[in-house]
Amino acid sequence: MGIKGIETVIETLKKGNENFTELEKNHGDISNFVRTTTSRDGQKPDAVIVTCSDSRVPPEHVFSAGIGELFVIRTAGNVIGDFELGSIEYAVGHLGVRVVIVLGHNHCGAVSAAMSGHGEGHIQSIIDEIKPALKEEADVSICERLNIENSMNRILSSKLVNELVEAESVKVFGAKYDISTGKVDFF
Ligand SMILES: [Zn+2]
Repeated sequence: MGIKGIETVIETLKKGNENFTELEKNHGDISNFVRTTTSRDGQKPDAVIVTCSDSRVPPEHVFSAGIGELFVIRTAGNVIGDFELGSIEYAVGHLGVRVVIVLGHNHCGAVSAAMSGHGEGHIQSIIDEIKPALKEEADVSICERLNIENSMNRILSSKLVNELVEAESVKVFGAKYDISTGKVDFF
């Protein structure tokens, strides 16, 4: 497989998303062959996808990806805490992943909840993470973008990730998924 260039990975993901929206199918490789080879040789995913737990945002389908291609981290509102940051550090530091994408989406319940400002139980910790990044902004689309950027900043707060980004070994991208059209827009 070998380590792919950053631009090649992004082009592959864009093409995969185009296939998903046009063909309404995921042609990713989920064969017995790929299961066997990845189990024998280990995983070499092309990208880390940090996205929302929302059931309408399934990253492997969205990018027409199969087994072993995406290292996926999902939390409501694609928020980043210590566990998520540790997972990303593992992917870039040990698996050699060079592309990290924060994939937000429209109609995100976590962003809406943060805009209205309160949640019960542990949901509050998600709200507390998102709300300050929104800076009293009233436009929901702008808030969704601000939330994606907030997670990107969190990722860059990792010393390891930051060093790899500085060395141009890793790049962190923001992108937004439209749950109606299926299209991903990269910033
Ligand atoms: Zn969401």
